Amino acid sequence: MKSMAVPTPSRTESRPTYEPVIGLEVHVQLNTRSKAFCACSTRFGAPPNSQTCPVCLGLPGAMPVLNREAVAKAVAAGLALGCQIAPRSIFARKNYFYPDLPKGYQISQYDRPLAEAGGLDIPAAEGAEGFKRIGITRVHLEEDAGKSMHDGHADSESYSYVDLNRSGVPLIEIVSEPDLRSPQEAYAYLIRLKELMLFLDVSDCNMEEGSLRCDANVSIRPRGTIAFGAKIEIKNLNSFRYLQQALEHEIERQAEVLDGGGRLSQETRLFDPHSGKTSVMRSKEQAHDYRYFPEPDLPPLEVSPAWREEIAARLPELPEAKRRRWQRDWKLPAYDTEVLTASPALAAYTEAAAGGAANPKGVANWIMGDLTAQMKARGEDWSRPPVQPAHLSELVELVDAGTISGKMAKQIFETMVTNGQSPREIVAKSGARQISDPTAIDAILEQVLAANPQQVEQYRSGKTAVLGYLVGQAMKASRGQANPALVQERLKQKLA
Ligand SMILES: [Zn+2]
Repeated sequence: MKSMAVPTPSRTESRPTYEPVIGLEVHVQLNTRSKAFCACSTRFGAPPNSQTCPVCLGLPGAMPVLNREAVAKAVAAGLALGCQIAPRSIFARKNYFYPDLPKGYQISQYDRPLAEAGGLDIPAAEGAEGFKRIGITRVHLEEDAGKSMHDGHADSESYSYVDLNRSGVPLIEIVSEPDLRSPQEAYAYLIRLKELMLFLDVSDCNMEEGSLRCDANVSIRPRGTIAFGAKIEIKNLNSFRYLQQALEHEIERQAEVLDGGGRLSQETRLFDPHSGKTSVMRSKEQAHDYRYFPEPDLPPLEVSPAWREEIAARLPELPEAKRRRWQRDWKLPAYDTEVLTASPALAAYTEAAAGGAANPKGVANWIMGDLTAQMKARGEDWSRPPVQPAHLSELVELVDAGTISGKMAKQIFETMVTNGQSPREIVAKSGARQISDPTAIDAILEQVLAANPQQVEQYRSGKTAVLGYLVGQAMKASRGQANPALVQERLKQKLA
């Protein structure tokens, strides 16, 4: 079937007659120090082919030895996705020929995967409450292939090079059920999946370096019908934007074909980021037959109940559970909890700063406001915050206790950022305390009233707007240290 040129669509809602059915296959590179079946380093960016050995080069007679840490991370991912962990799973050879695959096969798992039958919650569609659970079909362990390099060399016109540093790096493939119904849901699913992998510390999920790769299966069917349409697989969706663009384009393209009386057939298409379109890579007739068979060089992978429980006990609190707890216990709005779980380091900072605080919302506001602004200005990430979490909660305590005003807190915060001192130290050194003693406030007010008889007269004759001026004078007289709420309250009493 020929690919059809259609204009790039902007929205899928323009075709209410069809319902998209989408499933994602996501490859996640595990962040183990060594490869899946040999001791070679997995470090990214090393000189080409410097991190190889007979095993990952596929030399005859070399035997694979399974990396226990890779299994532990795969089990952790499976458990966090609510999957059943198979006590016994089988490695299989996936046979195909490609220059970056020196063995001629990839060690993967086929009919007996490590984990099956889980789910991942995504936020419900706009306007709806709660969550939508996307089924997880399976999570299996496999090894990566090498990387072909088609440019960057003087003779790249004529030759391609192969870098096998990536050959044998451990991956998990996470396959979803076809439960996604729009490009937006697919996007939200990938966001949540990436977040989960980051919080579990099983991958750095760096899309530029290929640590997170996504393929999509998409079909459409008339709304209200149950039978699936012809499944089209789209490859090479290596950014969140590409995923959404490719799905939008593909759904529109399929609808055009059906509306034009055409038929769709199962095929694999490749997304081209430059044109924003997909084109045929291979049809069903050209589909690979991988001739899977059990890997004879590796015994079945056994995960004992004791080991599985040990891994389960070590799982960190998952981001969704964290958000719900912060909403429940700290009374944070859902929006705040989303912002504050944007990365594991930010979530850890928030936990440390707001965890024991009497006013977690006050602390959250400082993190999302002034501290985030400071971090951005300094180009820092949350693993190196310029203010200790305990100092931030102390600052909020001082404001809440009336020791310092909100305005003073801003100045103290600036000092904290530059010299790393605690707010109490800064207050003690500068003597900058808020004046909250009514007697002291009254003394200031007496002076202000005596110096401004005209304004006092105006206020008493009904021009109450002049109060703001008098408050300002009192704040000035106290060099900004008077408690503004108290000044206002006492002033009103005196003028009454
Ligand atoms: Zn190796």
